Formats: sequence, C-alpha cells, structure tokens
Amino acid sequence: MELQNFTIEQINKALKEKEFSVKELTQAYFSQIKKTDSEIGAYLSLTEDLALKQAEASDDKIKELISENKEIPKLLGIPCAIKDNILVKGEKCTTASKMLENYIASYDAGCTKKLKESGSIILGKTNLDEYAFGSSTENSALKVTKNPCDLSRVPGGSSGGSAAALASNQAVFALGTDTGCSVRTPSSFCGVVGLKTTYGSVSRYGVIASASSLDQVGPLAKNVQDCETIFAVISGKDKQDATSVEFKYEKLVENKSFKIGVPKEFFGKGLDPEVEKIIKSAISKAENQGFKIEEISLPSTEYALACYYIIQTSEASSNLARFDGIRYGLSKQHKEDLLDVYLESRGEGFGPESKRRIMLGTYTLSAGYYDAYYKKALEVRSLIKQDFARAFEKVDLIMGPVTPFPAFKIGEKFDDPLAMYLADIYTVPVNLAGLPGMSLPVGKVDGKLPVGLQIIGNHFQENKIFNIASIIEKII
Ligand code: GLN
Repeated sequence: MELQNFTIEQINKALKEKEFSVKELTQAYFSQIKKTDSEIGAYLSLTEDLALKQAEASDDKIKELISENKEIPKLLGIPCAIKDNILVKGEKCTTASKMLENYIASYDAGCTKKLKESGSIILGKTNLDEYAFGSSTENSALKVTKNPCDLSRVPGGSSGGSAAALASNQAVFALGTDTGCSVRTPSSFCGVVGLKTTYGSVSRYGVIASASSLDQVGPLAKNVQDCETIFAVISGKDKQDATSVEFKYEKLVENKSFKIGVPKEFFGKGLDPEVEKIIKSAISKAENQGFKIEEISLPSTEYALACYYIIQTSEASSNLARFDGIRYGLSKQHKEDLLDVYLESRGEGFGPESKRRIMLGTYTLSAGYYDAYYKKALEVRSLIKQDFARAFEKVDLIMGPVTPFPAFKIGEKFDDPLAMYLADIYTVPVNLAGLPGMSLPVGKVDGKLPVGLQIIGNHFQENKIFNIASIIEKII
C-alpha cells in the first residue's frame, strides 16, 4: 500500500469504496514505521495491540455504516500518533524523561478520549523534549529524533516526534502540545501544518503539565483541511479541565476580505534573509488573492522572550515538585533519610534542562525575587495581551515567520540554552496572550529545509485561520 501523502479525505473516500480495510491500513503504517523509524526516531513506543483492536472495531463499524447507507465519520479508522506527554490509558507515558520512563497511564487524556470516540487509530507515542522543555527535541532523555527532510538536522521541538512521524509518512496526523512553540516550530521545520489552539479550546486533562497557563494541545496534519477536521473533533468543553470552555467549531465559507496585519517587530535583527524572503512572498501572494495587508506594531514583542521564560520556569518548577520519588516518578529508596530519597530521585530522574528550569523558577518565585521577576513578568504579559487586543481591533489575522531560521543542525544550539530560547522569539507571544496560531508550510530554503508561515488569530477564531490557510495552501 502506498502511504505517500495519504490524507484524511483520501482515506475516508477509499474506506467508503472498500479499497482497503482499516486493519490493512493500520498494518501498512506499522510496517512503514518499522522500515523507517530506526533512522528517524519519531516514536518512543508503539501501541500495536490497542491499534489493532481499534482497527477491527472500526472495520465492523464501517461495514455497518455502509450497509445502512450512512456517511463514514471523518476520523473513523484514521491512524494517528500522540505526543508522549498525553495520556493513553494502559500505555506508557514517559514525557521523554527518566523520571517517568516506566509510567503507565491509568486514564485517557480528554483529547485522547475524543480521538478514541471518533474512531481514530492510535499507532504510538512520539518523542519530545523532556517535559516539553525545548525547541529541538534534543532534550529528550530517551531518544534522538532526526528531521526527515535532512537527517543531520533537528525536527524542531518539543513535539518533534509528532512532526517527524508525519513528514516520514508514519501517521496520517498527530497530536502535539504547544506551551511556547511546540506545535508550530516542529511543523515549520518538518513542513507540515500545525495549529496551536486558543487557550481553553482543547482540554488539558491528562496532559502532563509543563506550564499550566500556557500549555495547549494542538493537531499536526499533512494539509489544512485535515488539521481543521481534527481540531473540530478535539475542541470543546471538558468538565475535567476547568480552564476549557464551551466551544463548538464552525467552519467559515471561503472569504477573501480579511485584513491581515504584519507586525514590523517580526522582521527585525536575527531573521534569516532566506526565511524572510519566503514569508514575504507568501504574504504578497495572499495580497494578490484580495486580502488587505497592513503593517502593524506589537511594541512589547521585544520583552516576550524574557517574560515567557520567567513565567514558564516559575510554573514548571511548581508543576515538577510532585515528582519527588514518593508521590510520583522514579523512586530511589533509602531507609534512613527522606531527604536523600528526594535528592537522588530528582537528581537521577530529571535531565539538565528540567533542572535548569526548576532552579530558575524556584528563584523567580522565591520571597525576595517574586516582585522583581514573576510579578513583573505577569505585568509584561498584560502588555503583550493588550498589544494583540489593539491589533485585532484593526485586523482579522496576523502573519509572520514561525522561527527566525529553518531547522538547525543536531547539536548546534544544544550547549547554549539562550541561543535555543531565541528560536521561540515569534511564537511565545501567542501563548502569553492565549491566542491560536498556525504554522503553514510556504516554501523551502535551498529547496530542502521547510519554512512555516505563522498565521495568528484572535481568541477562538481558528476558523479564520483555517479559511485563509486553505486559500494560501492552494497557491503556494
Ligand atoms: N521552547 C519553549 C520552551 O522550551 C516552548 C516549548 C513548548 O512549547 N512546549 O519552553
């Protein structure tokens, strides 16, 4: 079976026409994974028993629907990959950390539950930066993931396994999470479509927390329409997540009258000229389609990275406190001293980036520094939100690059955390403001390294993003 570029739409049609069964399709994906993943390293674990059971159930369901002359729901029988910080009941969930290397999830995350209900087939769990801390997937304590477009380069992070799985045809779609960049950057680096969803639009229940006021689950897919289909399924209220909201996704009819703001702060120092050229050309193609383009300003952008890395580390340090070898996580037992249990369990369980974040976050939350750092960062966060609110009074959408550069070499930024953090300069403001943002592939540097256009919308206006993205996708 030729899996190249299989999309949800194509599979749905083929299932309707009985070209193959879901079981055959699922087996074809597992053989593709077995053939290619020793080189790519996208998956941390495969969930074969679960997938085959789901496939059989889907085949039965499809037979029934066809005999009743009913439509086959879009995700029924569609194989997907799930980032390994999202719980799937009965399966390992490691968050790519030694701390949780042997943890088996005892329940399904809210989004996993919705996928299972939709009939989607779960192939396995994908690699990430430990606890989703990173932009390259190099902080995984368990595996190296390579970019399928160039094996010497990173796939982006932290949902690097999810993006690499799609780019190497090892799944039809994937779920990732995005705290500061983690759906958009890997989507951009691997040339797939990825959406960071509005804060509150998708349940975070059963997602191992990185920084709770920033984390969101989002879909990665091979085209805009698939991405939209998945978002429609996974979004909406979950009573297990108090921050999720009542929301029913509604698709828009094609509309070319939207106004697009292009922030001048997204085209400053540090932006690779090739990336800039590709992004500007995509924006001018949108203009040729009739969209109005206007330069705007988001003046607080220059403070976003500092603000993000204070809030992120503060929240991360408190979220990670529970992994102490007693309540959760790797446990080094000592008979004599409880403190030693904590020290050794945490010392061995956490990798260097997690330790860095625990130290930074503990510092910024400590009594003497709380006002100077954490409180101030919250104030700056308000300014960033206000920048966007003001911009969205004038424009419908905002466009710019996802990252300042395309996928970099494995190891290139690994020893320099600041250089790594700079990769997030255009993505973190979106999380700080709780907005939705997409990475849409619009070109390649040297014909090889994909570049994503970032399309940012106002809260819960994913439909405008999908609308324009599907128009641009056709003309790129
Ligand atoms: N690169 C950012 C960080 O390391 C964002 C990661 C993410 O979105 N999970 O915090």
